Amino acid sequence: DSRISRISSAIRAIPDFPKPGILFQDITTLLLDTKAFRDTIDLFVERYKDKNISVVAGIEARGFIFGPPIALAIGAKFVPMRKPHKLPGEVISEEYALEYGTDVMEMHVGAVESGERALVVDDLIATGGTLCAAIRLLERVGVQVVECACVIELPELQINLL
Ligand code: IMP
Repeated sequence: DSRISRISSAIRAIPDFPKPGILFQDITTLLLDTKAFRDTIDLFVERYKDKNISVVAGIEARGFIFGPPIALAIGAKFVPMRKPHKLPGEVISEEYALEYGTDVMEMHVGAVESGERALVVDDLIATGGTLCAAIRLLERVGVQVVECACVIELPELQINLL
């Protein structure tokens, strides 16, 4: 698809951010290119529009940028998957491993119902640990995760650096 190369060139790589040795993939430049941003959303909408998905779960923070336009276009609700202590209502939490230590992801109780079909959205997959935590959280409340959608997949070398 010719749209992929334009999207790919609109993403900027910044060396040594947030720490030495990491080549950070920065999607904020993709958001400045109106055609590439629209193409990104369109590609996902084309893939997911007829899959009977009722929930788009977006991972904080960049899943909050790509998730909502996809959700609106496919007629699904948007559910934020947040860092701890950000959501004001009752939450369910899932702990997951980082390179050093652990982190926690939270979702509002009652945001989704058992039996719903979900798409999980984030900007980037590296080890997959973040997406796996989102899948576990949704599956714990009986939601079927149809697929995970990311704009960027890191090549293996960068996965090892992370
Ligand atoms: P994983 O859990 O190892 O797959 O890491 C993916 C998570 O880390 C996602 O939530 C990403 O937003 C974030 N992340 C890791 N590296 C980068 C990067 O280079 N740019 C933007 N986000 C990144």
